[in-house]
Amino acid sequence: MKMFITGGAGFIGSHLADTLLKDGHSVTVYDNLSSGDKRFIEHNLQDKKFIFIKADLLNLPEIKKEIKDYDVVFHLAANPHVRLGETQTDLDVNQGILATYNVLEAMRHADIKKIVFSSSSVVYGETNEPSLPETYGPTLPISLYGAGKLGAEGLISAFCGTFDFQTWIYRFANVVGARGTHGVIVDFIDKLKKNPRQLEILGDGKQCKPYLYVSDCVSGILFGFTHFHDRVNLFNLSCDSTTTVTRIAEMVTEEMGLENVTFNYTGGIRGWKGDVPRFQLDATKITTLGWNATLSSDEAVRRAIRDVLHAKL
Ligand code: NAD
Repeated sequence: MKMFITGGAGFIGSHLADTLLKDGHSVTVYDNLSSGDKRFIEHNLQDKKFIFIKADLLNLPEIKKEIKDYDVVFHLAANPHVRLGETQTDLDVNQGILATYNVLEAMRHADIKKIVFSSSSVVYGETNEPSLPETYGPTLPISLYGAGKLGAEGLISAFCGTFDFQTWIYRFANVVGARGTHGVIVDFIDKLKKNPRQLEILGDGKQCKPYLYVSDCVSGILFGFTHFHDRVNLFNLSCDSTTTVTRIAEMVTEEMGLENVTFNYTGGIRGWKGDVPRFQLDATKITTLGWNATLSSDEAVRRAIRDVLHAKL
């Protein structure tokens, strides 16, 4: 099939591109490299089945020109930093909602009907539920990033209802692994490289979330796409365990061979305003049909630390 990936030069998108090429598909990556990296797709540039377009989704004429004759659009491009909404209040409106509208509108013009979307656990907001199924509601995000994701989900669902699109929407846990460029693991490694004796930890370290290894994320995306055929297919994508921030700090120091590192907590239950400190996703809907994460949350974190430390691409 002919696949189009927005954000395909990013962390998750580039792994998805690799897998789709290995499976024999043609892949076009559309990415402005704002948080992606050309090195993540360099090895595919000579492949006749691979095309890279460096362009911005906010440029509607450009995306309309490029998005033609594809079977499926995987829409992964977005601002990946949950925290940035605190200081740039229009970022997630533009990169989350407007960019998604542009993708949908370009697809409508080109008569392409299938869209796979990378949403996030943050759409659920802060709840008292020990484990959140897809049916949980109301969904009230507490970050602008979360609002951008929920807005994008709404637009996609509306294009399904109004223009007969079909979608696979995935609410990811925290995804980690090789080519990871942001998040707690990268942050701790960067800080400890600068000062191997002390580590600043945002919050009280008890924040507790599921971490999904990137190859499990990609296998989940493709499993859901292959096995579910409703008009709107919505899934949580997660392993069934969680890891605390302090445990991540311990694993990072172990893997870096550091001893007697002082952990300095900034305090409070969350890392920053808009951070959901504790959650677990109920992934029963997709696991019932046979997909499972191969790594637990701790295993995913440990492997991702090694990947990032050894700059594995
Ligand atoms: P990433 O930053 O590595 O990938 C996003 C890619 O989109 C980058 O290559 C970037 O250059 C590109 N991009 C951004 N804005 C663009 C624009 N306007 N036009 C063209 N390209 C643009 O991040 P990632 O971690 O790989 O995340 C991929 C998707 O998954 C994102 O939508 C993100 O919100 C979502 N997600 C990620 C996680 C996670 O833990 N990594 C969790 C939940 C959801």
